Amino acid sequence: MFSYRHAYHAGNHADVLKHLTQVALLHYLAQKDTGLMVVDTHAGAGVYRLDQELARTSAESDAGIARLVAAEQAAIGQGQPVPPAVAAYLDAVRAFNPDGRWRTYPGSPWISQSLLRPQDKLKLFEVHPTDTKVLEKQVTELGKGKQIEVLRRNGFEGLKALLPPPTRRGLVLIDPSYELKTDYAAVIDCLEDALRRFPTGTYAIWYPVIARPEAHALPRKLKAVSERAGRGWAQAELNVGFTPTEGTSAQIAQGRAHTAMRASGIHVINPPYTLAGLWREALPFLTQALREPQGAGWTVEAGTA
Ligand code: SAM
Repeated sequence: MFSYRHAYHAGNHADVLKHLTQVALLHYLAQKDTGLMVVDTHAGAGVYRLDQELARTSAESDAGIARLVAAEQAAIGQGQPVPPAVAAYLDAVRAFNPDGRWRTYPGSPWISQSLLRPQDKLKLFEVHPTDTKVLEKQVTELGKGKQIEVLRRNGFEGLKALLPPPTRRGLVLIDPSYELKTDYAAVIDCLEDALRRFPTGTYAIWYPVIARPEAHALPRKLKAVSERAGRGWAQAELNVGFTPTEGTSAQIAQGRAHTAMRASGIHVINPPYTLAGLWREALPFLTQALREPQGAGWTVEAGTA
């Protein structure tokens, strides 16, 4: 049923924005001792090899994490500052690449598990038959026992039973592939329900910025759902600009050619008060590092409760 495999996209510009935000949220939430429940409703396979077949097919990380690493090195070489959220994200990925060869890319479950404290729990939903097996195998090999649980079921539905977390502290990552058109409405329904059960949780929802009516409406609907629940929110978008278009010149002229996704966004409900500021420092650096020749840009918006 599902053809999406995150391994083809690991470490691309959308992962950079999403995982930079995830690291910032986890660092902030770890400042309080009380245990945290992290839920990943759409986990993927866990951790990816950037030098193996699936990732090399599209080589999206070359224009993502690889460019960011180069920009960090250039900044350091020139004595320029690296924004704190960029440095923290790259440090989290670097921890999986101690040889400095950047062959391993941690997906969201692996970023979470690397930042968990003993009192925290991680719940991972995944439905793809192959990726579920890979994820379960990798989680077992970590040897963290009951701290990390893989749930082979629909994350939109399964989230209900986990909320509110026993400690009333939680981070929920919602990162569908939007392969199904119904995912757009499912995100909103899932959030409305989750905010009723656990209004004070932190929720991070990734979305693609693509030419599709449901995608176009989603950022606005995410703000509306946050405001209806009386919660503060923050939203960031990163557009890396024009990317190579595959197709004949006639297809390109007719708008029928395949164009890689060039922009994405992330919406956070109940964000740390520091998040918008961290993004405003980080996004110009990301834009500069990842941009194609034309059309790149970024936005950060926030709304109070
Ligand atoms: N969050 C991952 C990361 O950042 O590393 C990437 C996730 S990928 C964009 C989306 C994943 O959701 C795919 O692996 C897909 O198989 C899975 N998926 C699709 N529909 C799902 C559902 N209803 N519940 C749980 N997982 C689902």
